[in-house]
Amino acid sequence: MKYAFKLEWDDLPEELREEKIRQYITDGEKRQCEKCDGENIYCKACRGLGQVDPDPDNLYEQEEAEKDIRSHFPIYF
Ligand SMILES: [Zn+2]
Repeated sequence: MKYAFKLEWDDLPEELREEKIRQYITDGEKRQCEKCDGENIYCKACRGLGQVDPDPDNLYEQEEAEKDIRSHFPIYF
């Protein structure tokens, strides 16, 4: 069976894409602490755990998430 139309990530409204990107980041795994790499128990970001919560406001994480979603789209819907 073939579908008549193919939905593209770029065709989605910008707000919807932003929402999906934020959700994807928030639902994602914890990230490596870039401030100390987990080697500093006094690190304010991770308290020495070496892992921090994902940050949907981080531009780099947004780009990464979008790349990921785009390459798997529309599986995440
Ligand atoms: Zn740290």
